Amino acid sequence: MGREAPLHFVIIGGGTSGWMAAAALAKLTPNRVTLVESDAIGTVGVGEATIPQIRLFNQALGIDEAEFLRETKASFKLGIEFTGWNGDGSSYMHAFGAIGRSAGLLPFHHYWLRARAEGTAGPLADYSLNECAARALRMQMWPQAPGRTAPDMPWAYHFDATLYAAYLRRFAEARGATRIEGKVASVERHQASGDIASVTLEDGTRIAGDFFIDCTGFRALLIEQELHTGFEDWSHWLPCDRAVAVPCTAHGDFTPYTRATAHSAGWQWRIPLQHRVGNGLVYCSDFLSDEEAEATLLANLDGKPMASPNRLRFTTGMRKRPWSHNCLALGLAAGFMEPLESTSIHLIQSSIARFLAMLPGTHPTLALAAEFNRQAQFEWTRIRDFLILHYCANGREGEAFWDRCRAMDLPDTLTARIDQFRERGFIHREHEELFTPEGWLQVFIGQGVMPQAYHPLADAMPSVELARMLDEIDQGVVRLTDSMPGHAQFLRAYCMPG
Ligand code: FAD
Repeated sequence: MGREAPLHFVIIGGGTSGWMAAAALAKLTPNRVTLVESDAIGTVGVGEATIPQIRLFNQALGIDEAEFLRETKASFKLGIEFTGWNGDGSSYMHAFGAIGRSAGLLPFHHYWLRARAEGTAGPLADYSLNECAARALRMQMWPQAPGRTAPDMPWAYHFDATLYAAYLRRFAEARGATRIEGKVASVERHQASGDIASVTLEDGTRIAGDFFIDCTGFRALLIEQELHTGFEDWSHWLPCDRAVAVPCTAHGDFTPYTRATAHSAGWQWRIPLQHRVGNGLVYCSDFLSDEEAEATLLANLDGKPMASPNRLRFTTGMRKRPWSHNCLALGLAAGFMEPLESTSIHLIQSSIARFLAMLPGTHPTLALAAEFNRQAQFEWTRIRDFLILHYCANGREGEAFWDRCRAMDLPDTLTARIDQFRERGFIHREHEELFTPEGWLQVFIGQGVMPQAYHPLADAMPSVELARMLDEIDQGVVRLTDSMPGHAQFLRAYCMPG
């Protein structure tokens, strides 16, 4: 067994997925990396909210957080506020991080459910540091100190996706990745294996490679147009198929959270950045025309529009085999599920991590690809179920789109979860599943899915002790929140010192 010769990785596409892949491969592997992107086609130009795992990706690359925040005009994100999903006037947050603290064998929420039944519990939000800080527009990081446990307060970012891709481009090029501008006109295959041999650009340039990464967005140039791997369509469960996006000037609160506001046939995002606010309406074209969607969006902005609205169409679902032959699909080429819980950039990152763990050599077999695809299928379907929950458990009665969502047939995996939660407040996180029990809990409770009973072990705690525990947690959250600076003030001090 000898050292393997470096491979040549050819990435087609220079959006977020292409440059994330290029940065990771250039930094972390000894391989040669070439990225081809077409200025004429451009990128999708949306995708600004993330989840806390993005920090692991940046850390793996050795990116300085303050520099990253400055370069991408980012803000902090502590969770997502869902407004109107359980009916007009309703609001809850899916905040990252812990809620309360577990006592003995049981997760906190069983104690909360008991105290709620006894009339001594506050709203679930009172026991979430992330939610309390977010609603108070505050943000803080605690320095690690010996003997001191920092509070559990995970954060993610809102960032300008175009600036992030540009930042990663500089990063990747500085580590040897080569960028070629041009449009791929044809794809050549090896006759015997069917593997991709090369791509040829419109100007005739031929680029041969050992492994190809399809980051061509919804076009899915290699994985679908060439390799025909097939698409699993989930639009019967995730029915929104269009979006219109527009940035606006920054007014209103500089929130360290994303807002997702339900409308008559979809929902609107609000993502505050340092220099503007990103907005978009995601909707179902069976129930809302493009013109109505645009008018709804423009009527619900904090500030003045800064560009013409950008209209996008999509079909929710995933590629049946994101790794096929010597080709891996990343980003929108691998599929798309709704921006509702900001999972797309995460799925790029987790695919890159999975791919690096299985990094194929000079003589790849089908075994790695099969395992990659199995894991991807698991990850995507569990995220899909979480997203569907927001739709099927809505409280917007009397609106045709939402009525249809409440009546839809659900995947068995989701039905089982809902039944388990309804029966006894049971939530189980399977290995490698993205969303935490706290995430599921907040959406269940926020959208009115209440358990019939809590776990009987919660009764073992004397009432006085239970009340004291809840009170201590609540007071601790208030104390910590009060000690934090404002989000804007903290961001300025952290990434723009002096
Ligand atoms: P693209 O940005 O479309 O890039 C495709 C690239 O391929 C371009 O560089 C293009 O030039 C190139 N290309 C295509 N064809 C050729 C060719 N023939 N030759 C050469 N080059 C070619 N994700 C999140 O995590 N959070 C969010 O908040 C979020 N919001 C979203 C909202 C909407 C409405 C949509 C649609 C998506 C959202 N996403 C979000 C997803 C996110 O935008 C994408 O995951 C991310 O931008 C990655 O896109 P991409 O790189 O796969 O594709």
